Amino acid sequence: MESNVKTAFYPGSFNPFTAGHQSIVDRALKLVDKIVIAIGTNPGKPNDNATERLQNIERLYAGNPRVKAIIYSGLTVEAAKETGATFILRGIRGVADYELERTLAETNLRISGMETLLMPALPELSMVSSSMVRELGHFGYDVTQFLPVKEK
Ligand code: ADP
Repeated sequence: MESNVKTAFYPGSFNPFTAGHQSIVDRALKLVDKIVIAIGTNPGKPNDNATERLQNIERLYAGNPRVKAIIYSGLTVEAAKETGATFILRGIRGVADYELERTLAETNLRISGMETLLMPALPELSMVSSSMVRELGHFGYDVTQFLPVKEK
């Protein structure tokens, strides 16, 4: 059944969800009706912190009924279709991301017919990555400036 509601499926590890991720969601909300932030998990790694990641994202968007967060495993396009999403949303920070994202987008289109929208990072956030936040945090650096800010 065709729906007029445009839903974007935003998959990632989000370990942790950063100010860069938040900026992609906030900007994309101007283009679509709903966004499903989807935390991909590997069933072989039962002790990851996916539930904690989920709760942090849910808290962040608690006041926004247009944003939903889920945990999924398996093929991204299948999880996306299950949520009723019409396309996949991904961010690109630079050429390294671009090469990977282009391949993923082409593969997902080929295997499922599902399109991917690539949104460029804001220049001031293009150096923010989850791994950088994890590493700085590990060494005791205050990473607040790289983390999302709660909506009012
Ligand atoms: P993955 O492990 O699938 O790469 P990430 O959680 O690292 O998942 O990122 C999810 C998506 O968000 C990816 O498309 C990534 O390129 C994008 N992204 C990550 N950081 C930023 C940022 N600072 N600005 C814009 N997009 C970003």
